[in-house]
Amino acid sequence: MSTITNNKLDLETVGHLINGKTTHHDGPHLDIYNPAKGEVSKYLEIASEHTLNEAIISAQKAFPAWRDLPVIKRARIMFRFKELLEKNKDKICQLIGEEHGKIPHDAMGELQRGIENVEYACTAPEVLKGEYSKNVGPSIDCWSEFQPLGIVAGITPFNFPAMIPLWMYPLAIVCGNCFILKPSERDPSSTLFIAGLLYEAGLPNGVLSVVNGDKDLVNLLLEDKRIEAISFVGSTPIAKHIYTKATANGKRCQALGGAKNHAIVMPDADIDNTVTQLMGAAFGSSGERCMALSVAVVVGDEIGDILISKMKKAMEALKVGAYTDNTNDFGPLITQEHKHKVSSYIDSAENQGATIEVDGRNIVVKGCEGGYFIGGTLIDNVTADMTSYKEEIFGPVLQIIRVKSMEAAMQLIDDHMYGNGTCIFTRDGEAARYFSDNIKVGMVGINIPLPVPVSYHSFGGWKQSLFGDLFAYGPDGVRFYTRRKTITQRWPSTNLREGKQFSFAESASYATSEK
Ligand code: NAD
Repeated sequence: MSTITNNKLDLETVGHLINGKTTHHDGPHLDIYNPAKGEVSKYLEIASEHTLNEAIISAQKAFPAWRDLPVIKRARIMFRFKELLEKNKDKICQLIGEEHGKIPHDAMGELQRGIENVEYACTAPEVLKGEYSKNVGPSIDCWSEFQPLGIVAGITPFNFPAMIPLWMYPLAIVCGNCFILKPSERDPSSTLFIAGLLYEAGLPNGVLSVVNGDKDLVNLLLEDKRIEAISFVGSTPIAKHIYTKATANGKRCQALGGAKNHAIVMPDADIDNTVTQLMGAAFGSSGERCMALSVAVVVGDEIGDILISKMKKAMEALKVGAYTDNTNDFGPLITQEHKHKVSSYIDSAENQGATIEVDGRNIVVKGCEGGYFIGGTLIDNVTADMTSYKEEIFGPVLQIIRVKSMEAAMQLIDDHMYGNGTCIFTRDGEAARYFSDNIKVGMVGINIPLPVPVSYHSFGGWKQSLFGDLFAYGPDGVRFYTRRKTITQRWPSTNLREGKQFSFAESASYATSEK
């Protein structure tokens, strides 16, 4: 667990990015760990109220000119940013690995998704064109334009330190806003490095700031009247708190929370393909994904038995270890505390009557004995009343629930408090269509285990997985980061009515008087 300390070893300190510059101020620090080793690797400065104020003042100063810069020029900066992200891929993935523990192939995947959001931001001149109706009345035209909000803040979780900030600020900024980002305190280095690249791409000072810290800093952001809107991604209890407090303070807010994603495995599913998909979706990134598939609901005992036996076989080949070896399938959990939490969910499933088919609790990774590892875990005979089913585990654990019909499987999913992602494995198009039409979940896959929408759609869950009205990024992101203004204009046609002609002299004098 991170602790606040002033007793420093001789380690690097991660500061903030304010007004286009990396800054350091004295003050308390949090420990940043290398989770593969279980050792403190860096310190993180906690931004004071004064530091946050500097960031907000720099944004206030930058906003008028940034808002008025032609959108094509704002988009050009995003084009250059995309190139720099591609050029620095290896460095970014290394920073992610050191603090998150993610294996490079997985870090590359998240970065690629982030880059795609920058690509969508490059389309701003097209998506900000607005709506126009001519002649809504005599000589009357009406249009809606989408104006930036002002200063927007983003608060992000540890599990995608590159991708989730990139869901937010490229789009917010290209829409003409200034942005203050508060990354996760667990793995801030890649986030800070990436933000620096946007300045290298030509961003004017003050348009983006990164302030580091923990919940106290978040609460300052929520209370500050100069901040118009908050984008949050993290766990559900915190998302609820953020949404309640931000909206009570008059801010626009979208708060994305936790998940429990089910896959229905139908008796007609292509079972070998299902196993391959489940292996990646349940265990990839140590299950620390809000779209991880953590429950497989098998329809019928026969398919259940086949699935379990094939999963057990496939899991024998899982390779768990440090980010330094790209042949590993997944790395450690983020903290010792989180490792204990995941382990205690496995204990509770066992104590409440489930069958542990593959047990990852006692895994030892050679050379990384202090790391926060849990191996892939498979649990059968799980029931809906078990704690491990009701709550989000956020670890490499796949639970199996056996039901008799697709309707029973869908009922389970609908009754669950979370509604982020879900998927069905089947060869039956009619069943798949019925499922996607009726299931109460925000993102649905059909033979696709992690249905993360591409950057030109939008991402979000239902029920306790999202508080707010708009999904993240894509078209909903544009709506979130802009405010509609509708203008109705009449230019009476006096000249035409009176049969006069427009003369060059009249327009010239009009132009002169305008000056
Ligand atoms: P978290 O909720 O602990 O932290 C998220 C952010 O909130 C961090 O920046 C943290 O500093 C801040 N925070 C933590 N406690 C706070 C408090 N009491 N008051 C104010 N701010 C606080 O989440 P995490 O552990 O970093 O990330 C994992 C969680 O995020 C999981 O539940 C996962 O499902 C969820 N998640 C959801 C999505 C999604 O799109 N729905 C995506 C990624 C992660």
